[in-house]
Amino acid sequence: MKIIFATGNENKLREIREILGDLAEEVVSMKEAGVFVDPDETGETFEENAILKAKACAEAAAASGRFAEGTLVMADDSGLEIDALGGEPGIYSARYLGHDTSYDEKNRKILERLKDVPEKERTARFVCAVAAVILHKPEDQVLVTRATMEGQIAYGIAGANGFGYDPIFYLPEYGKTSAEISPEEKNAISHRGKALRAMREQLLLIPEAPQQLS
Ligand code: IMP
Repeated sequence: MKIIFATGNENKLREIREILGDLAEEVVSMKEAGVFVDPDETGETFEENAILKAKACAEAAAASGRFAEGTLVMADDSGLEIDALGGEPGIYSARYLGHDTSYDEKNRKILERLKDVPEKERTARFVCAVAAVILHKPEDQVLVTRATMEGQIAYGIAGANGFGYDPIFYLPEYGKTSAEISPEEKNAISHRGKALRAMREQLLLIPEAPQQLS
């Protein structure tokens, strides 16, 4: 059994392989699977966008005729919700201020918008939805999970690990931003790590999954 994950992001793939690797003979990216889709993210929720990406990738994989029944096609959608900004940038996190704007600029803009917001109102969370489509089972079966990592928007930029909004995402229990903790520490508590582990639990609950997947 193969897992195709609809991403080109190597960091995501590494984390996915760590969490789901033992369920499949192989976890491959779209590129490695020779499947190419880039659907518009027209959903209104993280879940809708994750399902939309997984379904588009599953359709292309099925059309290629190269993947066995039971192949898992997965995708995720994630972003940052800031309470003081009514949940912005949310599902538009990657597109916030335009795709080509650097994260340094995006982060500075957010800090500027929050400059008068007191600490207790700076609550925020990273959200991740993971969708899995099981090819032809009997028609494509869809599973979805969602998880969050709660924190606050910091007062400045700190840390060089991670990516995106990590340098402004403060984790009170660590006294650091998510760009200052190690990748291993982040994977253990991250929205994506939790959503992937929840997906792992769902996959193991499918009656024939343990035999089929192991
Ligand atoms: P996507 O899920 O690949 O569409 O990415 C959504 C966007 O959310 C990313 O481009 C980042 O800006 C942001 N994001 C999602 N997860 C994280 C994270 O763990 N750290 C920092 N930014 C993140």
